[in-house]
Amino acid sequence: MRKNRNLGIFYLIVFIEVKLRITNFDVFDENGNVLLADAQGNNIAFNCFECGHPVIAIARDNQKGSDELHPAECKGENCSASFVLQINTNMKKMSIHKINPKT
Ligand SMILES: [Zn+2]
Repeated sequence: MRKNRNLGIFYLIVFIEVKLRITNFDVFDENGNVLLADAQGNNIAFNCFECGHPVIAIARDNQKGSDELHPAECKGENCSASFVLQINTNMKKMSIHKINPKT
């Protein structure tokens, strides 16, 4: 019995890991327009909506872009745009939302 329970936990962990894979997901902006982006593993590269500088976000808890407390911040000169990912694993798509920078 105990062995089976441990196996269940193992499968749960695998399931969570699989959910985080975003390779080749379709990527949209907050208005539903298709974005040019490159998603691979847990990472996605896209261009800043404000200045066009490259931005990388990571689809993992507590990594940049995962939520509003951990936004992906543009490193472009004089640009303070911040972004978060919203991922729909069932639809294999995601959207990138620009949020207000931390004050
Ligand atoms: Zn920027």
